[in-house]
Amino acid sequence: MTEIFSSLDSTEVQMRRALLEGEGIETFIRNENLSQLTNVLAAPFQAALCVMNDEDLDRARELLRSFRTSGDRSDWICPKCKESVPGTFDSCWNCQTANPESVA
Ligand SMILES: [Zn+2]
Repeated sequence: MTEIFSSLDSTEVQMRRALLEGEGIETFIRNENLSQLTNVLAAPFQAALCVMNDEDLDRARELLRSFRTSGDRSDWICPKCKESVPGTFDSCWNCQTANPESVA
């Protein structure tokens, strides 16, 4: 079992897991429920996506790379002020409206 992605945002991890599972790659999320085990609500925890079978590792890495690339490159148009916003921004640089496409 090898960890291939981790994030403080468990949604990011879940999205990648769905991608890999859709390709038939068995995965496991470490620390997914850690926040529920502690009494410190604000404790930061990092969810980690792991690939169960090492023979799937290369394919999984390739899938994640293309996932990240497409996410980074597509600029989007703010629905509110019609400004063009770089794909790396989660919200409009002009009026702070959240990217509607980043909301799963
Ligand atoms: Zn805007």
